[in-house]
Amino acid sequence: MSHLLPPDFVARVQQDAFLGNPLLEALATEPPTSIRRNPWKQVADLPVANPIPWSENGFFLSERPLYTLDPLFHAGSYYPQEAGSQLLDAVLKALPLPAEPLILDLCAAPGGKSTLIASFLNNTGLLVSNEVIQSRAKVLKENLTKWGATNTIVTNNDPADFARVPHTFDCIVVDAPCSGEGMFRKDHAARNEWSQNNVDLCAARQRRIVMDVWESLNPGGFLVYSTCTFNSQENEENVAWFAHETDAEIVHIPLSFAKPDRTETGWYALPNELDTEGFYLAVLRKPDGNSPKKKWAKNPKLQLFKDRSLVEPFITTTDLSLIQWQEYVFALPVKFEETAFYLHQQLRVIKLGTELGEAARKGLIPHEALALNPFIRNTGLSTIELSKDLALSYLHGDTFQLEGAHGFQLMTYQNEALGWIKHLGNRFNNLYPKEWRIRMDVR
Ligand code: SAM
Repeated sequence: MSHLLPPDFVARVQQDAFLGNPLLEALATEPPTSIRRNPWKQVADLPVANPIPWSENGFFLSERPLYTLDPLFHAGSYYPQEAGSQLLDAVLKALPLPAEPLILDLCAAPGGKSTLIASFLNNTGLLVSNEVIQSRAKVLKENLTKWGATNTIVTNNDPADFARVPHTFDCIVVDAPCSGEGMFRKDHAARNEWSQNNVDLCAARQRRIVMDVWESLNPGGFLVYSTCTFNSQENEENVAWFAHETDAEIVHIPLSFAKPDRTETGWYALPNELDTEGFYLAVLRKPDGNSPKKKWAKNPKLQLFKDRSLVEPFITTTDLSLIQWQEYVFALPVKFEETAFYLHQQLRVIKLGTELGEAARKGLIPHEALALNPFIRNTGLSTIELSKDLALSYLHGDTFQLEGAHGFQLMTYQNEALGWIKHLGNRFNNLYPKEWRIRMDVR
């Protein structure tokens, strides 16, 4: 059992009355499987066992399905997510955030917390989802695009870059890179990577990350700090250090399901208590104060897109700001137009709201983000409903015999959009993005 765990870790946990043998025993068992549903998309046919009590859209499954072979997984109908991480849902609901908040998810790839925050926002407010590692930022962009909200911006920046956008966010989620003790149950490789030295390095890096981003939090704003590890160094001790360094108040949120931490500042989802992998979370509030008025500089790279008639056949919503970046058109709520211009100027933006498509001379070449966004895509568009086999072939990047009118057609499975094709009559061009295609044999 526990002999597979790093000996120094075992010794530390055994000496820690807060954790002790029950944790070690739980880490030797199989972790549960859980998902979070997308409230805006079709309900997938999954082996649901029980709802997750602390997460509005979360469910435990009785077995782990092969998600790749479910077209609704690719449509963004659900996201496989560890149950403990879904405590964030209960926390966001408990925080007194302003209406239409601006939320930054700083360490966001692959997008579990970001898709949860997007559902919480329910297409109001604005989510800026950031990931420092470029390859991981692309996956984050893909997952948020499939989730389908209009109001998400994805950036690929180092936390220190956020000093360029001071006093901007009402809430910052720092799901920090950590020593990953909560992964030991699922991921045996994580056990080999663990060392006390790595815990020390992680704790120091977490301090740097939080201090780097602190200036971009609005006075009175909230910082939600989380890890998937069990040691106090990366959790309670760091939270106390953050509060000391920043004069922040530690916010005590009533969470009936989780276990209060060693100093009663934050919360744990422990695998021996909640049937989760392991998660820690605490909330800090920045002292009230005045924000200097923002100087909105002109952003020469972006302009408002004037030719609305080009995109109008594809969209239903009118209260959108249409923004042109090179030859591409993006949609964002009008309310956040100025913010989007500002963030785009200061940061490395890789997703600007919902990309509608490329403004070509003959008309709009629609983008997959438009296909996957249920809020703004015109419901009267020409669609072709696919069987499961054909949907998988489409997602694999294949072409096949298909009845349908000429031009752009929306491919659907169980009435949920997957992406576009361009029908040429006797054949079609499969426009499903190459980097998203299913690589395994689907036949
Ligand atoms: N929030 C994500 C989710 O729910 O899907 C998981 C985030 S994971 C715990 C931590 C993330 O921090 C990783 O994506 C990692 O690439 C990123 N990261 C690594 N080093 C970092 C650093 N120095 N500053 C900021 N983020 C970093």
